[in-house]
Amino acid sequence: MKCPFCHNDDTQVIDTRVSEEGNVIRRRRRCADCDKRFTTYERIELVMPVIVKKNGSRTEYETGKLRASLMLALRKRPVSAEAVETAIQRIEEKLLSSGEREVMSGHLGELVMRELKRLDKIAYIRFASVYKSFEDVSEFAEAIQEVRKS
Ligand SMILES: [Zn+2]
Repeated sequence: MKCPFCHNDDTQVIDTRVSEEGNVIRRRRRCADCDKRFTTYERIELVMPVIVKKNGSRTEYETGKLRASLMLALRKRPVSAEAVETAIQRIEEKLLSSGEREVMSGHLGELVMRELKRLDKIAYIRFASVYKSFEDVSEFAEAIQEVRKS
């Protein structure tokens, strides 16, 4: 860390403290050259990755959009709102833990399908048929076969 006063590269950490919540680290530093002191803060950065669509355009990740597409697939199906929220949480955790700044929309789609498969087979088929844009009955039949197997 450079000294903000004389821009010397050589600064020493003289004290380190973790905040009560444990999410911020505060470091007291001293410049080895001009002897001035300053403080730096280290925080956890949790930023959802940007979604890259097939055509290359980028769009901000929105929980609302994800929830809407899950609800659409789950329409009139016996799945609780709580189970949907848990699925959303799991998807978001996976996106966050990837540490990537950008994620392909196809990857997000796969995560959604994995969750729907666990929640409700009918909803899974609904989502997959739109998402994978099945072109004929055989593709549809294949997907149903796949669900039957699992
Ligand atoms: Zn300095």
